[in-house]
Amino acid sequence: MRKIIHCDCDCFFAAVEMRDNPEYTDIPLAIGGRADRRGVIATCNYPARAYGVRSAMATAHALKLCPALTVIPGRMEKYRHVSAQIMAIYRDVSSCIEPLSLDEAYLDVTDSKEHQGSATRIAQMLRERVVNETGITISAGVAPNKFLAKIASDWNKPNGIFVITPSEVDRFVQALPVGKLFGVGRKTAEKLKSINVQTCGDLRELSIAQLTESFGRFGQRLYELSRGIDEREIITDRVRKSISVEHTFASDLLSLDECLSHIPALSDELLQRFGKLKQQRSMQGLFVKLKFNDFSQTTIEHRSLIHNEELWSALMSQGYQRVNKPVRLLGVGFRLKDQEDESLQQLDLWS
Ligand SMILES: [Mg+2]
Repeated sequence: MRKIIHCDCDCFFAAVEMRDNPEYTDIPLAIGGRADRRGVIATCNYPARAYGVRSAMATAHALKLCPALTVIPGRMEKYRHVSAQIMAIYRDVSSCIEPLSLDEAYLDVTDSKEHQGSATRIAQMLRERVVNETGITISAGVAPNKFLAKIASDWNKPNGIFVITPSEVDRFVQALPVGKLFGVGRKTAEKLKSINVQTCGDLRELSIAQLTESFGRFGQRLYELSRGIDEREIITDRVRKSISVEHTFASDLLSLDECLSHIPALSDELLQRFGKLKQQRSMQGLFVKLKFNDFSQTTIEHRSLIHNEELWSALMSQGYQRVNKPVRLLGVGFRLKDQEDESLQQLDLWS
């Protein structure tokens, strides 16, 4: 059984600003772009959240909800510096860490000898060290896998900890609303609600066959998540370069038109997968992959900040014509900007 900790700073950018400028502590504060430049909120503190202000909201709208909101531009260099300090504290405890963004990381402490190997006590120690050494509070979730650890860190936020022991997994997941599952967006949640599925317990009533029929390959994932199963490893020192979806067909596709007819389903699934990642990462290009019945394959890339059916179709046509044979597999994907680039870009947006 693995021991995973998910650590998440509480309103990170705002927390750094409140630490450095005590006058901000008790007033509604947001870091974001200017309303008159169509800016958006990057982070806000809890007094601002009490008014309904949220990340990614237009600043103009946030100011309507909370006219007294103080909106300041971000200092990415500063946040990156504090983030590095916090990640160094995590690395003291485990070399197996996967940062998800500047303020969030998974740690695998399965083999850790500290605190007699108690993941809960390690998490408490991390919370204390981070606040003592950087002045920033974090919330931690402790669980046997990534999916549950991430849900747990949110459970007693801010400045809290929540532990799901292996023996509690089943009961915890049973009552969990399906909307909490990674990959279940509003559309999927509505679809599930229409068939009376609101919790993971309800979801367990459906067979794998029923789930795959309604949700394609994601059905398998729903089957596992609703039982608290998530085998994903902690991936260290990795920067994800792309995200993609592939389908292998039971019988070969014999024409370009037949290939093109699969674009809507493939691109929908890609967008669904990209859904939650999108808060941290943005795309910088598209690619289409084709595998032919002679097992040759080709990939067509296109640098672009937008995606639409015409672009996908153009790439797929180009790839098909390169080989012009029956097709056994189609894939579509986004190339992603690395996080460093994005932070800089955010800074540009704010200044
Ligand atoms: Mg956070």
